[in-house]
Amino acid sequence: MQAFRFDAPPLPPEASEACERVRAFLATECGGGRYVPHRCSWSTFDPEFSRRAGAAGFIGVTWPREVGGQAQSSLVRFVITREMLAAGAPCGAHWIADRQSGPQILRHGSERARREILPRVCRGECFFGIGMSEPDSGSDLAAVRTRARRHGEGWLIDGSKIWTSQAHRVHYLIVLARTGEAGEDRHGGLTQFIVDLSASGVTVRPIHNLSGGHEFNEVFFREYYVPDDMRLGDEGAGWAMVTGELAFERSGPDRFLSDYRLLVELIDTIGPEPDARQAAEIGRLVSHLAALLRMSTSVAALLDEGRSPNTEAALVKDVGTAFEREVPEIARLLLPLQPSLDDHAQRLPETLAHVVLHAPSFTIRGGTREILRGIIARGLGLR
Ligand SMILES: Cc1cc2nc3c(=O)[nH]c(=O)nc-3n(C[C@H](O)[C@H](O)[C@H](O)COP(=O)(O)OP(=O)(O)OC[C@H]3O[C@@H](n4cnc5c(N)ncnc54)[C@H](O)[C@@H]3O)c2cc1C
Repeated sequence: MQAFRFDAPPLPPEASEACERVRAFLATECGGGRYVPHRCSWSTFDPEFSRRAGAAGFIGVTWPREVGGQAQSSLVRFVITREMLAAGAPCGAHWIADRQSGPQILRHGSERARREILPRVCRGECFFGIGMSEPDSGSDLAAVRTRARRHGEGWLIDGSKIWTSQAHRVHYLIVLARTGEAGEDRHGGLTQFIVDLSASGVTVRPIHNLSGGHEFNEVFFREYYVPDDMRLGDEGAGWAMVTGELAFERSGPDRFLSDYRLLVELIDTIGPEPDARQAAEIGRLVSHLAALLRMSTSVAALLDEGRSPNTEAALVKDVGTAFEREVPEIARLLLPLQPSLDDHAQRLPETLAHVVLHAPSFTIRGGTREILRGIIARGLGLR
């Protein structure tokens, strides 16, 4: 049986420097009233904030300088994202491009895609969404039915995607499509493409979530033309790329800090003299959070070493999102709270209502707990 690799290294001096820099940036932003700390930091879309974060060098931190990045380590990026989330900064516009689409383009994109797209991402001017899920292929991603067929110098895409977050606001999606025979394990014949949402042949329709908000969508492709240099990697190599991408998607602090502001407000409301139960529960949550931070730091270090920490990333997401689901439950146990979206006089009931309405999605988006546990079991050699 293989062991997990969670040997969190000490943070290097440049990570501490980055921490100070990003804290100063966020203090100026928040202090200057440019944003109000938000309950769902990384799903709050604010292009102007992203532009300022890009100008300050906080996007594409690990990418080479020639594409506009900072050539820093994943540990430096980890610290920057942790601080952004903890401060409730509205990072949603650039989040997906910075976390996973950009790294995919860097590794597998054509020269044109790297040259034309990545510097704009780093400047906080170009945003991405994920086009993986389809009506009958969420957990079973290998079942995708969207097809791409060769056409002249490029490809024509037909099919549809669902739950596509921010497709109505971003510039591009990375779309997983079937381009050839699936093979016995169904992992063959899949290819990823960079899809420009401003081109013709693509339609975006809203789906409203539990709170009535418009965050995700259905996306339809009808003879959508994509040039061959907007293909990612080799034809048919999409499965390995998608599974590699999920290590970036699943391991970061966004998988356990989604409702961090609720925890902060809970602690502030309880104040410096908690009763015995409040002290015990808050102590448990905070120590749990410290363990998650360590685990996530370890994954950042493994990425720096060029390893593929898929199993560890799945564990961070499984344990991390379970933690996120627990925070509102504990809040309700510790205080006589009535969640209310209309109670603007008191911050905590409003934050709680918002989190309660979004919490079911924490353990679904990016892969459900059952799927993650299957990956963990396989990684440990148990299945
Ligand atoms: C807020 C939010 C944002 C999202 N954003 C995006 C996005 O931007 N882009 C994108 O592509 N997708 C996105 N998704 C979709 C998400 O990735 C899928 O919802 C998720 O992968 C589950 O797929 P499904 O909804 O089809 O559920 P299903 O796969 O139908 O699963 C239903 C239930 O069955 C269980 N199950 C399924 N298969 C197995 C199995 N083999 N063993 C045990 N249990 C199993 C699941 O765990 C789950 O409980 C988003 C989802 C949410 C909630």
